[in-house]
Amino acid sequence: MITLVAATRNKGKLAEFCRILEHLPVRVVSQFDCCPDLEVEETGTTFAENAYLKAAAICQATGEIAFADDSGLCIDALGGEPGVYTARYGADVLGAHATDDDRMDLVLQKLQGIPWEKRTARFVSVISCVFPDGTKLSCEGVCEGHIGFEKRGEGGFGYDPIFYVGEQQQALSFAQMTAAQKDGLSHRGKAMALFEQQLAMKMQNTDSERR
Ligand code: IMP
Repeated sequence: MITLVAATRNKGKLAEFCRILEHLPVRVVSQFDCCPDLEVEETGTTFAENAYLKAAAICQATGEIAFADDSGLCIDALGGEPGVYTARYGADVLGAHATDDDRMDLVLQKLQGIPWEKRTARFVSVISCVFPDGTKLSCEGVCEGHIGFEKRGEGGFGYDPIFYVGEQQQALSFAQMTAAQKDGLSHRGKAMALFEQQLAMKMQNTDSERR
């Protein structure tokens, strides 16, 4: 069984990683278990760059295969914001201790008066996986949706209560979905499905090279 270190300190993401990889013969170890204090500066300008920075730093620190997701919400009416800055969105007006709840309120406030059809948005996730031999994998998943008019639902994490998937009348927020429903259509679910395929291929190739 191979060990994969999940390079994240976001408990919501970690829960999703473990859930999605549950059926594979891999042992997922979290960054909390091996290097909880390692802070990786996300200096990249793309999701792919930031995901790679996180995975590479944890691979180097642990000597194990490490993978990371960099993700965010891109809102068309805000010119694609917050994008790669989703985790820190609005720090200039909300202060450094703002919560996800504060950030969602800010988004709803900025979209006041904008009708449903112009509230289009997408969640993007890029998974990067770095191997101790220096090789890497990268997979992207996108989930299209709308920013609702209010927060709904109790599940999930982050911006889940304001991100809705489906036609206006039947749309459910990510926070209203079951874990399985969200994983089946989310950006992270899609990126992780590709990651699983690429990882399996890489393992096969490594096995045949050894023989
Ligand atoms: P990162 O940890 O730097 O990748 O930041 C990701 C940001 O996007 C954080 O603010 C997360 O809360 C948010 N985010 C990413 N994926 C999701 C999701 O599936 N649901 C809700 N928020 C998410």
